[in-house]
Amino acid sequence: MADPNLPALIEACAQPGCPLCRLAQGATERFLDNLFYEMVNDAGMRNQLRNSLGFCKTHTRLLLDTSLRDPLGLSIVYLDVLNKILSTLPQPDQPGRAAGLLDRLLRRLPKETTELSIDALQAMTPRSPCPACHYRDQYTHSMLESLTIHLETPDLSQALEASDGLCLPYLRLALEKSASMSGFAKLILIHQNKLQKLRDELAEFIRKSDYRFMGEGFGAEGNAYQRAMEMLVGSE
Ligand SMILES: [Zn+2]
Ligand SMILES: [Zn+2]
Repeated sequence: MADPNLPALIEACAQPGCPLCRLAQGATERFLDNLFYEMVNDAGMRNQLRNSLGFCKTHTRLLLDTSLRDPLGLSIVYLDVLNKILSTLPQPDQPGRAAGLLDRLLRRLPKETTELSIDALQAMTPRSPCPACHYRDQYTHSMLESLTIHLETPDLSQALEASDGLCLPYLRLALEKSASMSGFAKLILIHQNKLQKLRDELAEFIRKSDYRFMGEGFGAEGNAYQRAMEMLVGSE
């Protein structure tokens, strides 16, 4: 049976940047879009978001800086999260185990302080990963598996050779998952060429930045530093 991931992989290779980062970004945005559309009222997802204390830093920025921003959905999620933190924090004025601990902390009694610190730290520590990271990791896992399985089919290997290449984090994962030694070698060869080309472009940019050669003007090497930086860490 044909692998449904294959056409998406080949298509992403024709776009700028790391094809896997591009696919993962698109998939994560669709996930977040759906989340606010359908899942905010889903008890399982609400519970997951309470345990993860909302989203990670990357996905918080994504939600705030793009059209994914959904004030009502985000208010519902974060009301839950803040309630969870507040209800887990030790209550100074309530009876029970934690009663008076906050007062005693203020008076600095070491034994109770430790007990209180553990409760307080636990209340502020996520117990599960950001749901968007979790979804993205599952998605990229499936894409990486398809990539390594089909790496030696001409359509995919040619597309990958013509692409900007995988970023190093996904290249490392792809190498770890390699289905064969020849697939492993192919991945190395493709990316060695890309790294060499990028290195040459950086050297060319530096050469042209010298006042004696400024008249030559910049070509594709003008943004080589950006592509090099993204290749090292990914572009999500
Ligand atoms: Zn990437
Ligand atoms: Zn995240």
